[in-house]
Amino acid sequence: MDRRTLFRHLGRQAAALALARLFGAAQAQPAAPWPVDAGDPFTLGVASGMPRPDSVVIWTRLAPRPHDIGGGLPPLPFSVRWELAEDERFGAGLRRGEFIARPENAHALHVELRGLASARPYFYRFIAGDTVSAVGRTRTAPAEDAPLARLRLALASCQHYEQGWYAAHAEIAARELDFVLFVGDYIYESSNPRHRLRPHEGPVPQTLDAYRARHATYKLDADLRAAHAAHPWILTWDDHEVENDYAADASPSGLDAPAFLRRRAAAYQAYFEHLPVSPSMAPRGAAMRIHDHFRWGRLAELWTLDGRQYRSVQACGNAAAGGRTIGGDCEELADPARTVFGAAQERWLADGLAGSVRPWRLLAQGSQLGASGVAVPGQARRVFSDGWDGYPRARERLLDAIASSTAAGGNALVLGGDVHRHVAAQLRQRPDDPRSPVVAAEFVCTSISSRGLAEARMAAIRAGNPDLLHARGDERGYALLEITARAAHCDLRATPHPAQPGAALHTQASFTVEAGRPEPVRD
Ligand code: FE
Ligand code: CA
Repeated sequence: MDRRTLFRHLGRQAAALALARLFGAAQAQPAAPWPVDAGDPFTLGVASGMPRPDSVVIWTRLAPRPHDIGGGLPPLPFSVRWELAEDERFGAGLRRGEFIARPENAHALHVELRGLASARPYFYRFIAGDTVSAVGRTRTAPAEDAPLARLRLALASCQHYEQGWYAAHAEIAARELDFVLFVGDYIYESSNPRHRLRPHEGPVPQTLDAYRARHATYKLDADLRAAHAAHPWILTWDDHEVENDYAADASPSGLDAPAFLRRRAAAYQAYFEHLPVSPSMAPRGAAMRIHDHFRWGRLAELWTLDGRQYRSVQACGNAAAGGRTIGGDCEELADPARTVFGAAQERWLADGLAGSVRPWRLLAQGSQLGASGVAVPGQARRVFSDGWDGYPRARERLLDAIASSTAAGGNALVLGGDVHRHVAAQLRQRPDDPRSPVVAAEFVCTSISSRGLAEARMAAIRAGNPDLLHARGDERGYALLEITARAAHCDLRATPHPAQPGAALHTQASFTVEAGRPEPVRD
C-alpha cells in the first residue's frame, strides 16, 4: 500500500469512527491494526519509570514522523502489543498484552504493569504490526520491609539540546543503577542564539503540537534514548518544561493568567505524553500532580517535589516577574505566605518527614536549597529571586521539617538541579547563620548540557557562602549516588563545557555523608 492509498484507507476508517460516535457506538469500534507501510513507529524509543515493589510503568509513543502533526499518523486509535520478561530473550516469565494508543495522547502508551516481583530486572518491548521496538530494561523497587544493601542512582537535570551533546547520558546508560532521578529542565522552550551547537526544530513552543515537536527533538537523541532504555526513571520538573521562571499562573513573557494556563496545559500534556509516568498522572487541563513518594526497602525514602505549579510569584519584581537579582532587604521576602511548594504539598511533605522511619530521607526538587547570595560591601546581600534565596520563609519551614524529622535519628539528603553547577553543601537550619546547626547535606548536579555561570560569578558565590563545600559551573555531567546503611557516597561526574559527543567523564569531586552525621565530607 503506498502512502496515499494508506491515508485514503485510514480516512475511511476515521469516517466510520465518527459515524460510530454519532450513534453512540464508539466503544464498540475496534482500534485500527497497525498500517503495514506507515514506517517505524518507535523513533522516540522506549522508557520505564515509577518503580514500585510490585509495579513499573513502561512507555513508548507511536510516531513514524515525530516532527509532523500527529507524529505522522492519522487521528485514529491503534492497537499495539507489549511484552515483558525476566530475560532479554523474552523466554522466562513472558507476559504480553495489548494497549490502544489514542490520538488525543499523541499515540503515547503508558502501561502500568502490576503483580511483579520486587527488586529484580525486567525486559520489555512493544510490537506494532511487524515492527518490534528496541528492548528496554527496567527494575522494580525492593519490598518495603526488605533489608537492603544499597541504593544506586544517577541525579541529572538541565539538558538544553542546543548547548551540548548528551555524553553524560551515554555514561548513565552504561551504569548499573536502580533508577535515574531527573529533577527538571527536561526540555528547554527557549534558545540562546549565541550558544546553538545543534538547533531546535522550531521557535519557542506555545501550542500542544509545538511542545510535542520539542519533546520529539530531545527524544531523537540516541544517548537520551539509551539512558531511558537502560533504567527506570523517576522525575520531577522545573520551569523550562513550560517557560523559564514561570510561577503557578504567572508568565514572565507577559501572557495573562488564562492565556498562560492554556499554554501550561499544552506543555504539561506534552510532558505527560513523552515521559514514563503513571497513566493516572494524566493532566486535567492545566493541572498535573507530579509530586510523589517512593520507599526503597527499609533503607530510604524519596519525595519528588514540584516547585513550579504552586509557587508564589518572585519577590520585588515587576508585574511580569521572573528571576532577577534583588537586594536581600526586599520586604516581600519576609512574607510568610510566600511559598515554593504550595500549602498542600508543604503539609504533605512535613507529615511524610515526621512519620519517616527509614534512615535515609531523600528530597528531590528542582533547584538549589542552600544559600548562594553574594555579599556587597555596605549593602544587603544580593540574591537571585527565582531560587530558594528568594523564598526564605518557605525555606525555613522546609529546613524546620527536616530538622524535626532527623532529630531522633536518620539523615536527610536534599537533591537538586537547575543552577548548572555541581554543588556539595551543608544545610543549616537557618541559612547564613554560622551558629545554626547543620541539619542536612545537599547535592546539586550540574547540567547534562546547559551552559553554566561564568567563573567570576561562581567565585563570588563561593566566597560569600562558606557552607558551599564545592561549587563549580564550568563542567557538564551528573551526580552518582550510592547509599548504604553506613553512608551516602556522591561522585560528581563531569566533562568540560560544551559537552562533546562521546566525551569521557571524570570525577570532579567526591563526598561522603556518614549515617548519623548530617554534613558531607570531601573524600
Ligand atoms: Fe536549567
Ligand atoms: Ca530551571
